[in-house]
This record gives sequence, C-alpha cells and structure tokens, in this order.
Amino acid sequence: MKEITCKLLVIGAGPGGYVCAIRAGQLGVDTVIVEARKPGGTCLTIGCIPSKALIHAADEFEKVADLAAGKSPLGIGVSAPSFDMTRTVAWKDRIVSRLTGGVSTLLKKWKVKIVQGQAKFRDGKTVEVETETGTQVIRAETIVIATGSVPVELPSLPFGGPVISSTEALSMDRVPEQLAVVGAGYIGLELGIAYAKLGAKVTVVEATDRILPLYDAELTRPVAKRLGELGVTVLTGARAQGLDPKTDQLSVETANGEKTRLTADAILVTVGRRPNVEGWGLEELDLDRNGRAIRIDDQCRTSMRGVYAIGDVTGEPMLAHRAMAQGEMVAEIVAGKKRAWDKRAIPAVCFTDPEIVSVGLSPDEAKAAGRETIVSQFPFAANGRAMTMEAEDGFARVVARADNHLVLGIQAVGKGVSELSAAFGLAIEMGARLEDIAGTIHSHPTQGEAFQEAALRALGHALHI
Ligand code: FAD
Ligand code: FAD
Repeated sequence: MKEITCKLLVIGAGPGGYVCAIRAGQLGVDTVIVEARKPGGTCLTIGCIPSKALIHAADEFEKVADLAAGKSPLGIGVSAPSFDMTRTVAWKDRIVSRLTGGVSTLLKKWKVKIVQGQAKFRDGKTVEVETETGTQVIRAETIVIATGSVPVELPSLPFGGPVISSTEALSMDRVPEQLAVVGAGYIGLELGIAYAKLGAKVTVVEATDRILPLYDAELTRPVAKRLGELGVTVLTGARAQGLDPKTDQLSVETANGEKTRLTADAILVTVGRRPNVEGWGLEELDLDRNGRAIRIDDQCRTSMRGVYAIGDVTGEPMLAHRAMAQGEMVAEIVAGKKRAWDKRAIPAVCFTDPEIVSVGLSPDEAKAAGRETIVSQFPFAANGRAMTMEAEDGFARVVARADNHLVLGIQAVGKGVSELSAAFGLAIEMGARLEDIAGTIHSHPTQGEAFQEAALRALGHALHI
C-alpha cells in the first residue's frame, strides 16, 4: 500500500484528537487523523454524551413515577409509568450517531484525511495502521498522541459476565433488579443514581470514608442526602473483594472489618480510568512518563521533538473540555502560532442529583496554598427560582483572597447547576473580584442570582438572606 506523508498526524479522534485535527485543518495544515473505532472517542460514544442521555431518561421516568405515586406538591397526577430500556438505548444511540457523523463531516469540511484502523508507532515520525484493506504507513512531520483512557480493572473483579464497566452500563437491555456499584466517584454515582431512579435496588461500595472523595465534603452532602431518598445503600470504608465462586455474590469487607456478601445481577466497577498507553508501540518512543501518563510541558510537548500528547493519555484531570482545549492549542502551535497553556481553571462538573460544579480552588485547597481567604455561600433555599423548580437543596459558594478580593474558586451544588459552570469559569478566567460579581446584574429569577448573592454576602451585604 502507498505511504501517506503529511505535516500533522493525530492518533485518536476523541475530543482531544478531533478538535486538534479540525483546528489544524482550518489553519491550512495538511492533516491526517487515525481512529480505531468511531470518531468522537470515549466522550461521544461511551462517555459524556451517552451517560447524560441515560441520566435524562432516568430523570424523566422518576418525575412521572413520583407523579403516579401522588408525591407531587404541584397537584399533577398520572397513572403508572412504563419504561422500555431498549427504546431508551436506541434513542441514545441515535444521538451518538448524529454526533459522530457530525464530527466526520467537520473533519471532511476542513480537508482532514481520516484513516480508520489501529495505529502503531514504528518510530517518532512513522506510524503504521492496520486498515480493512491492509497496512497503511503514514509519515508525518509532527505527531499528536490522543489515545485517551480506559477503565481501571480490579484484579479481584475482572470485567466479564456480571462485572461490567461504564461502557456496558450505557447499553443494557434491561434495568437490573439489583445493581452493585464499586467506586463512588462521579461516573459510578451518575450511573448508580440513574439506575436507582429507573427502579434498580442500588448498593454503592466505596473504599474511602465518603462518596465523591475528590470534592469537598460540604459539596457532596446534598448528594448523599438524595442517595438516601432514592433508597441507595452506600457502604463507605468498604472494599469489594471479588465474586464468591459458588454463589456469584460480591464479597465486601466493611469498615469494621466484617465480611458481607451482596447479591446483584450486575456489578458496575467504576474505580477510575487510566491513560491508554498500551498496544500502540509507545515502547518504540520511550517517552518520559508521569506515573502511567505521558509527561507533557505547557505546550503539550512530550520528551521527543515533534511528538505531542493531549487529553486523557496525559493524565488528570481526565475531562473532555480539557482535551479539547489542549487539542486546539496544539493545532495552533503546529500552525506556527505562539501559544502555551495559560488557563486559570478547568471546570469540573459532576452530573449527579443534585449536580456539583467546581471551578478553581476549594476553601481547603486555598488554605493549603497559604492564602488567607473569605469563603461565602448562599443557599438555594433562599432563591426564588430554585423554589419554583423544587430545587431548594444546595448552595453557591465563592472563595476569594481576603486582601484584594480576587476570586480563587467558585462551587455550587444543586439541581441543574452544571449550566452555571460557564459563568463561574468566565469569572475566574477574567480575574474577577468579589465586587465584579456583586456588581454584575444577574437576571431574575435565576439560580445564578445565588452566585451574585454569595459574592455580596462575602462583602458583608447580601440582600436576600
Ligand atoms: P478519548 O475520548 O478516549 O478518545 C481516544 C480515541 O483514540 C478513541 O476513540 C480510541 O478509539 C482512539 N485510539 C486509541 N488508541 C488508538 C490507536 N492506537 N489507533 C487509533 N485510534 C486509537 N468528561 C467530561 O468532561 N464530562 C463528562 O460529563 C464526562 N462523562 C464521562 C462519562 C463516562 C461514562 C466516561 C467513561 C467518561 C466521561 N468523561 C467526561 C471523560 C471523557 O470522556 C474523557 O475525558 C474524554 O473522552 C477524553 O478525550 P480524549 O480525546 O483524550 O480521549
Ligand atoms: P412591584 O413588584 O410591582 O412592587 C410594587 C409594590 O408597591 C407592590 O407591592 C404594591 O402593592 C406596592 N405599592 C404600590 N403603591 C403603593 C402605595 N401607595 N403604598 C404602599 N405600597 C404601594 N421581571 C423579571 O426580572 N423577570 C421575570 O421573569 C419577570 N416575570 C414577570 C411576570 C409577570 C406576570 C409580571 C407581572 C412581571 C414580571 N416581571 C419579571 C417584572 C417584575 O415583577 C417587576 O419588574 C418587578 O416586580 C418590579 O419591582 P418593583 O419593586 O418596581 O414593583
């Protein structure tokens, strides 16, 4: 087969890789992208988008089920709801197809050549791809590694049979009667809550002493409360130890050292994701590493000249919007523009019920950084819009420097607060001070007013509390 030569070769068409290729194409860089599966990567095909589709379906079902149970204070009643998992999964798959098709169209629009197959490095400038029609060799001046991440497997609970990863949990043919979730991080809780709303009896097993250990305890409290309301059993300080070979039950060692067994038709293991660094010839390059991840500098350069790495393969935070921002930056660098990573914050959103948003430093992180801070929060219980949406649990919080009021961090927990992450991110990126937020007119009635009130409260003159 003929060799292809190009200026830029991108390996992996997830949010990191496809954004990099589109931006390079826009800038007139001769670009090839290789993808083993579908364009869109984990995020579009088995991650962010499918999980949010399932969460939406579960929310809709729960709403109707509550109405049918006469739980609505709004005076709305319906007869019993029904749920067809196969139709929900088919609906989710149509969304995925629209998005992955859209990515292909955009790549073509910007004259990016797409090669379908698994890429493997021969050396720092050459890659071979196993395609349907044979081996394709691609030589490139610059290579961007965007191979993403894969779920971490527990040695005592290998994937297979009833033990599933998030990928299988997003394409089930029915709602399991009993679901065990191992790992109370954001992926496990997002999916665990969705299945609980769809009627599964869910038990969460978490090794540390609380859920969502990466978020501060105050932010996670409303989520813990909601898990209780949904009948989810949460075992903290508990370790999943494997399947009992006779009964197929999940053995768990609880916090006080006792052993217990859980019966479950599905065991969802969500104990993190790891950079995808195997099976594509990384050993040929001998790049410097940061743990398992590929080590990068502030321009996403690896230790080999002409080889960049972006997205989950470079480690935490493994988030789609970070991968995209890195991809866009690297494309511009390859096209000759002066760019370096100068972001002040990468927002993180947890699409649990209620949702959590965190941008910048938490109060504890600010303290650990040696800052003297003002921390102020405003409860949604005092926010008119939240009342009208039955969304009074939670709060918005600001963390600012005590001396000059520069905002260091903004967090919120509450129904639908994911959409506030844009305002929070903008405030931090633009170096807002408390006075800027307090002085910005926020539309009424919106949940965003809680953000303004938190800033006003930090200044000592909140209006609505
Ligand atoms: P990926 O999206 O993993 O893409 C890598 C691509 O490279 C894949 O398509 C793969 O097939 C391809 N590839 C790998 N090796 C090769 C090779 N040798 N040759 C050719 N192709 C190759 N993030 C958020 O920001 N928000 C969310 O709400 C969110 N929800 C999530 C929910 C779930 C259930 C999961 C699993 C993840 C979620 N994430 C979320 C994380 C998000 O999916 C990742 O951060 C994001 O996809 C990383 O993008 P990436 O481009 O680095 O890699
Ligand atoms: P008002 O809220 O009208 O209050 C005036 C008060 O003065 C009244 O309580 C009245 O009894 C009292 N008063 C009058 N004369 C006297 C007197 N002589 N002595 C003592 N008391 C007196 N705005 C938004 O920003 N977002 C929206 O989504 C929105 N939706 C709306 C929907 C509707 C149906 C309506 C009618 C208005 C809406 N508005 C909305 C507009 C908003 O309600 C008004 O802009 C806002 O209430 C104006 O505040 P105000 O204090 O000037 O007047």
